[in-house]
Order: sequence, then structure tokens, then C-alpha cells
Amino acid sequence: MPDTSDPACGNIPFSFELYPPKSDAATSALHATIKRLAAAGPEFISVTYGANGSSRRSSLDVLTHLLRTTTVDPLAHLTCVGSSNAEASRLIREFLDAGVRNFLALRGDPPEGTREGDAFLGDLGSAAELVQLIHRVQAERVPYREAAIPGLPAARTIKREREKVRIAVAAFPNGHPRSRSTTQDIDTLLAKQAAGANLAITQLFFHADHYLGFIQRARAAGVEFPILPGIMPVTSPARLRRILELSGEELPSELAIALEVEPTKEGQREIGIRHATELARKLIAGGAPGLHLYAFNQHETVLAVLERCGLLTPTPAPSVSEFPASHPVKEY
Ligand code: FAD
Repeated sequence: MPDTSDPACGNIPFSFELYPPKSDAATSALHATIKRLAAAGPEFISVTYGANGSSRRSSLDVLTHLLRTTTVDPLAHLTCVGSSNAEASRLIREFLDAGVRNFLALRGDPPEGTREGDAFLGDLGSAAELVQLIHRVQAERVPYREAAIPGLPAARTIKREREKVRIAVAAFPNGHPRSRSTTQDIDTLLAKQAAGANLAITQLFFHADHYLGFIQRARAAGVEFPILPGIMPVTSPARLRRILELSGEELPSELAIALEVEPTKEGQREIGIRHATELARKLIAGGAPGLHLYAFNQHETVLAVLERCGLLTPTPAPSVSEFPASHPVKEY
């Protein structure tokens, strides 16, 4: 029996992640998915970016489709490994010119066989440097705009402000596969904050304690921006194997066994939705400022998770400024 919705989850913001389609049929299917996801009122929808720019055009097409056909903010993943400063600047300008104002700044994975310090890894050594570059390009491109401040005399009414961009970065509750220690991952997050990032999205994980413990360590070290937990409903053993391969996360044995012994696709789907729902509820109870759902270009399972958490309401979701600035971490 599926769980019923949970009013205790309140009305916290949520967002979705999609990847660029690889065929015309997949593009039509994705457009239908976008319509369903947009109707749920997400805070933003992010679109991944292929390693070394392999999906530049198709990522931009999905972002443009979001801008043209929905009122949802698109958020563009960008990677910098292998790029020169000039190439990365051109790319950022192209996305800004298309109307994108939200980015997930990533270093990206170096190609197989390369080593740190290799010249062809490019000019930018880390995601933090890409964060700085996005700010720099944005500042050069959009001049200060002047606005009146209501209630002040004319001579004092000129407020100079810049258009705001949201720059998110990746965070790794269980450590990046290549980082030497959990301290290194927190230090990297601090460097991204110092560079001007204002949001983080985590790598997927399977236990709430992994996220909540990471948040405690990050807050203790001085990380202040909201850190959105990345959640994926895993609905088949094959998908579980694939995402573990991609993320480097450890096998969650209970979920893996439950998926393996369940003979029907429908039953496996139910296991994945129930697992993600329970995880989401624990994260919300632990103080997560929102949920970021890896949708795998399908709407049914992520919407089922949100519905069971009581998060699908007819009213629009709150704006990004309503993500709590600092995470109220609860004891667990
Ligand atoms: P950084 O923040 O610069 O590094 C992350 C951590 O790994 C740090 O602790 C750092 O010290 C350590 N580290 C990184 N590289 C090394 C190394 N060579 N040796 C030792 N330590 C190292 N990839 C894509 O190609 N496209 C995407 O769209 C995409 N989206 C993502 C979305 C999310 C939410 C997440 C969590 C990851 C995503 N990735 C994507 C994967 C990401 O590019 C890789 O994890 C990459 O290896 C690190 O990028 P970063 O921005 O985290 O790098």
C-alpha cells in the first residue's frame, strides 16, 4: 500500500535535474516531461552539461525551451576542465545572452589517464575558479543599473546594483571519490563560498545521516549558503548499478537487495519511490532547506515522491530568496 501524503513536510522548495536528450524522439518526450514538472512549481530546473562541452548545443536547447515555454528558472550546469579562460568566458557569455541567470559551476571530470597539472586540463583548476569567472563575465557584460529608492530625495535616490546571478556548486556528503579526506571536501566548499557561490547541490546519497552529518561539519567550518540534498528515486537494479558507477557512491545494501528480490517492474518502482520518500521526509525533518530531485528525464517517479511528502500544492513554490540562508541543523 503506498504511503499517504505527509502534511508534516510543510511547503519547502524543490527543484529537478534533467539531461539533454540524444534523439528527436527523446526531445519530444523531454518536452512533455518538462510540461509536467513545470506545472508542479519547482524553484528551478537544472540541465546537465556533457564532459568537455560535448552537450553544449543540446544543453542550451533545453534551457532555451524552459525559458520559452515555462515560467520556471532554468539552471545551467557548466564544466571548465579542458577549457582555456577565453573559451570558458565565451561559453558563459553565450548562456547569459540566451537568458540563463542560474548556474551550477563544476570543474568536471578530467579525461581518463590525465594527471593534476597536465596542461590540457585547461586554465581553470577548480570549480571555485569557474565561480569567480562567471561573476567576472557577468559583471563585465551587465553594467550597473540605476534604480530609484522610494521615499528618498532625488539626489540620493540612485541605487547602483547589479543583476543577480545564482551560482550553485557541487557538494559531496560522502566525499568526492578522489578527495583525500572529508576535510578536503569541506575546504573545497569553503573555497567555493569565498569565490561567490550562493547555493550548493549534493551528490546523491542513500542515508539521511550522511547528509545531516555533512551539514553539521560544513556549518561548523563556516559554510553558510543553503545546501540542497540531491535525491534520486532508484527504480531498478540496473539503474542503481549505473548511478553507483557514475557517482562513486557505495552500494546501499538494503535497497539493492530489495530491488534484486522484487520480480516485477511495478514492485521495483514502488520500492524506489518509497525509499526516496522516506529519505526526503527524514531530510526535511532534519532541516534540509529544499529537495533537489534527479528526474532522469521522467516525471512520474519524482512527482510521486513529492506528492507523498505533501509537497505538491496548487499554490506557486516560494522564490529562491526564501531558501533559508543558514541550515537549521537538528540533532539526530
Ligand atoms: P571541485 O569542487 O573543484 O572538486 C570537488 C572535490 O574533489 C574536492 O574535494 C576536490 O579537492 C576533489 N577533487 C576533484 N578533482 C580531484 C582530483 N583530480 N584529485 C584529487 N581530488 C580532486 N559533471 C559533468 O561533467 N556534468 C554535469 O552536468 C555534472 N553535474 C553534476 C551535478 C552535481 C549536483 C554533482 C554533485 C556533480 C556533477 N558532475 C557533473 C560531476 C562533477 O563534474 C565531478 O564530481 C567532478 O569530478 C568534480 O567537479 P567539482 O565541481 O565538484 O570540482
